[in-house]
Amino acid sequence: MIAPDKVKSKGEKLEGQNIRFRAFLKNRADDDELDAHFLRLHKELFSDYDCSKCNNCCKSLTITLDDGEVAAIAGFLGQSASDFAAAHLVEDDGQHAFKARPCEFLGDNGQCGIKSCRPAVCEGYPYTDRPGRLSRMLSVVYSAEVCPVVFEILERLKEIYRFRNRG
Ligand code: SF4
Ligand code: SF4
Repeated sequence: MIAPDKVKSKGEKLEGQNIRFRAFLKNRADDDELDAHFLRLHKELFSDYDCSKCNNCCKSLTITLDDGEVAAIAGFLGQSASDFAAAHLVEDDGQHAFKARPCEFLGDNGQCGIKSCRPAVCEGYPYTDRPGRLSRMLSVVYSAEVCPVVFEILERLKEIYRFRNRG
């Protein structure tokens, strides 16, 4: 597996190739079969991966939240929603989002300080176990520049689908 500190540069270097792979899949892959490959690889690769040694998602992604999530985290921290929002949130494209990157709730031990009420965006990332990957391949390509597991899934999929256009 690629090291967390190498995935941004290597993923960006392969971005053109990965976008060509996306087009290749759009023309040839069956949606359900591709989802099944994603799910199998997701389970296999995350089963023994220690995300606390990576945390690239917590360091670099924009984390958006809905009103319910804001209230839940504020309550967990013993703050009012408005005090919490003033201290930790910005409005991003009409949505609440954490102000700081890396995330302020990422502990030095690599653990999330609000894990029991972390936003769904955090809980679901990188979504490679969800159906509908073919229509979301662009976000997979960008996740391959953040997440070592997604980077590896894409490389394995290129082998599975015998993708040769790697120039
Ligand atoms: S809330 Fe937790 S899981 Fe989400 S970005 Fe912050 S530290 Fe990471
Ligand atoms: S989900 Fe991916 S980017 Fe986030 S910590 Fe785990 S391996 Fe790293």
